[in-house]
Amino acid sequence: MPALACVDAAVSPPSYGIAWDGALPAPGIFPGGAPTTPVGDAADGRPVPWSPDLSAVLYRIDSWGVPYFCINAAGDIAVRPYGAATLPHQEIDLMKVVKKASDPKFDGGLGLRLPLLVRFPDVLRHRLESLHSAFEFAIQSNGYGSPYQGVYPVKCNQDRYIVEDIVEFGAPFGFGLEAGSKAELLLAMNCLSKGSPEAFLICNGYKDEEYIVLALIARSMDLNTVIVLEQEEELDAVVETSLRLGVRPVIGLRAKLRTKHSGHFGSTSGENGKFGLTTAQILSVAHKLQRLDMLDCLQLLHFHIGSQIPSTALLSDGVSEAAQIYCELSRLGASMRVIDIGGGLGIDYDGSHSGGTDMSVSYSLDEYADAVVRSVMLACDRKHIRHPIICSESGRALVSHHSVLIFEAISSSTSKAETLSSMAPNLAYFLDELADDVRSDYRNLMAAAFRCEYETCALYADRLKWRCVDQFKEGILGLEHLAAVDALCDLVSKEMGVADSVKTYHVNLSLFTSLPDFWAIGQLFPIIPIHHLDQRPEVKGILSDLTCDSDGKVDRFIGGQSSLPLHELGGITGKEGGYYLGMFLGGAYQEALGGLHNLFGGPSVVRVSHADGPHCFAVTLAVPGQSCADVLRALQHEPAMMFDALKHRAEECAAGSGDALSCALAHAFHSMPYLVSRTAARAAAPGSDGEATDAMTSDSEASGGGRDGEEDEDWEFMRCLSM
Ligand SMILES: *Cc1c(COP(=O)(O)O)cnc(C)c1O
Repeated sequence: MPALACVDAAVSPPSYGIAWDGALPAPGIFPGGAPTTPVGDAADGRPVPWSPDLSAVLYRIDSWGVPYFCINAAGDIAVRPYGAATLPHQEIDLMKVVKKASDPKFDGGLGLRLPLLVRFPDVLRHRLESLHSAFEFAIQSNGYGSPYQGVYPVKCNQDRYIVEDIVEFGAPFGFGLEAGSKAELLLAMNCLSKGSPEAFLICNGYKDEEYIVLALIARSMDLNTVIVLEQEEELDAVVETSLRLGVRPVIGLRAKLRTKHSGHFGSTSGENGKFGLTTAQILSVAHKLQRLDMLDCLQLLHFHIGSQIPSTALLSDGVSEAAQIYCELSRLGASMRVIDIGGGLGIDYDGSHSGGTDMSVSYSLDEYADAVVRSVMLACDRKHIRHPIICSESGRALVSHHSVLIFEAISSSTSKAETLSSMAPNLAYFLDELADDVRSDYRNLMAAAFRCEYETCALYADRLKWRCVDQFKEGILGLEHLAAVDALCDLVSKEMGVADSVKTYHVNLSLFTSLPDFWAIGQLFPIIPIHHLDQRPEVKGILSDLTCDSDGKVDRFIGGQSSLPLHELGGITGKEGGYYLGMFLGGAYQEALGGLHNLFGGPSVVRVSHADGPHCFAVTLAVPGQSCADVLRALQHEPAMMFDALKHRAEECAAGSGDALSCALAHAFHSMPYLVSRTAARAAAPGSDGEATDAMTSDSEASGGGRDGEEDEDWEFMRCLSM
């Protein structure tokens, strides 16, 4: 039994490998070895030539991506800004957007760092118009007697430009906003002041007197404001405040329906739901208003079945129940004129077009609108009640498609096969030195492998490993021996076809910041490489993010997959640069829900519109992601003072090189917390002009959006240092 002394002589004599008895199998020697390529082999075992079309099938782009995303002839993801009406020359190549955004300024780029959120206002407009025309069509074809007038619930994404765009794009058909808190109400009031006067301003959420005052101010500003009672107690505050301010309110009721949506997003519905008034409370409110001679103020009935309503059957059920309540309120004398069907219009995240999970819904926009119109119409016609204006609060369905989050894979775990090849020359030498009891396990393992007894193999491999670990802990085995045993077991499992061939790709992203719903509620989003799609993805991978958190990994993908087909990093032919992935359909909820785990802040953002010209797009806004100073400030640290203190200390401790150190410190405060790939680092090193600076105004295609120079002089000084 060799003692630890062998570790000193761990460099094996070259002859050892050859002198060994030869029991180590050559790769491929066992029958029934593993297939080496994960996808797309022809039946005869030869790989079929790869094409963008095969990638489209593999990644299901033709189901979840239609009509906004496709793969172009170059093998890149292209965005179709006008949906199905997009002409081929209007498609925007996402890789060109990445290049424009991330190239250094001296190269004509915007010098932004990744991760990068790309917003497409054209797609947003197309979604809004599609929603509106779906209802228009259902109204026309069913002979329904009132219009559709939707609102956007700002909680889905409160980004200023999204809300402003929706108000602007929706003005021709009176599209409004819904707010659920005082801050949301303030932003909605401000945006709608520039919108259509008919557009609704729906005030939902729990309300105190301040909220109600604000809503009544909005009413007095001639914004078409409706205060929706979420709780019975809110009525007294509304009545008192409106008398005090001398503003007559328009009141809506949120009904708690009996219809229940059983998916994750359905907990808001049903008899025990969190929100809304019960039947008894609805009656009580109506009676109270009648006594106050204010029944004419009650004009709207609202309900919300939950998000991602899976089927039109459930939808029709809920709408019918609500339409009955609407008719009853009319009968009781309220001046009812609007039925607000809430949100819940779903998105087909996995492209399966099935209502079985929260990932998908089984209807189209048109089918959704038709189900709503028919259900309301049926109830009202039966009771001879005038058809109400139909309002919906579709959030997810409006904003999900319009943004794409792009991030880079920076490295991948070496596969076990690679480790093996680096071990191979010394493997025999170290195995030869194992203790006798261990060697017998090893011989049994090899024998079982040659007999193709997979289960016996696994047992011996397991025992061998544990015995060696025990001996290692006792100091009997060296690191090299332990590694050799691991390598041998990997070789055997590879040859048996049971090797774990999934690689981990490290991505420059925090999923707590950018994909919070994946972590929190298991929501899946389509994630795919945005280029090289003309090449076969040879590897299966999972994604591991930058945070020091074991939850910071993506190992579940649409279609029930536990790994994602990916291209070998560095093995991609014919092109240079990084490997970029996109997360799609994440425009709703993720941004406001995202946190600052490990102090990774928000991504850089660009707004990209279709434009005439060679690249067929223009960047109309570019905002660098939060810097280290920004995220520190968010948690009450004071970066300017921190910088001064650190700079002082650096000067004290490192006489002579103090300037260089403070320069590097300043640079760190002003950079994003994410990693910088080596090529980008070279372009953007302190002293060069490659770095994104605060204002983007120097680029002709970018306007505004940068942070304003609002900080004090020290900070200004420090900024100079970092240039
Ligand atoms: C969240 C919410 C919405 C938006 O729901 P989506 O499913 O995103 O359309 C609409 N109305 C209310 C009351 C909500 O709480």
